[in-house]
Amino acid sequence: MKWKCPHCGNELSEDEATRGSCFSCKKVFENPLKFFDDVFIQREETVKKVEELRKAQNAREKEQREREEKEFAERREAEIKQDYSPKAKKKLLIFLLLVLVIFWGTIRIYYGGEIGMRVVLKASFSFKDTIVNLDDIFGQPRIVVATQHPAVKKQLEEMGIIETDDQGFDRTMEKLQNETERLMRGFRF
Ligand SMILES: [Zn+2]
Repeated sequence: MKWKCPHCGNELSEDEATRGSCFSCKKVFENPLKFFDDVFIQREETVKKVEELRKAQNAREKEQREREEKEFAERREAEIKQDYSPKAKKKLLIFLLLVLVIFWGTIRIYYGGEIGMRVVLKASFSFKDTIVNLDDIFGQPRIVVATQHPAVKKQLEEMGIIETDDQGFDRTMEKLQNETERLMRGFRF
């Protein structure tokens, strides 16, 4: 701790301060102990005051920080609640169901029959024959496909995957004609 002479302001050693005399100006203090106490108390008070001010400042800052954090957490919580509220979930579910229904009524998926998977649009909105195994279709008599899966038959004809009735008829007639000619040649008299 440093002390200053009350007369000349010179810095005093501890020895000078306790003895109550300044070596620089050769003056004495009226009450060296009181002088010592005053300076000491003043210093202590200043330190205490600064400490209190700092504490108050820290407390204010801490409070501010905590308030901001709390506000942020509350905002975030509100947002999460809004995002995942039962009402929002229900809305999302209805939307997904709607998408699925539209998808199911609009899209047709062919697979099997050695053509690989093909996704096409249905000619008209329908929930029938959305996923079609071509092996099943090819395995059924033409008349069964025509009566039970008319839309599939028409679409496959348009896609050129199966022949149309006319083409089938033509092909049968041609085969019959060829067969007849072959027989005629065989039975030549
Ligand atoms: Zn002095």
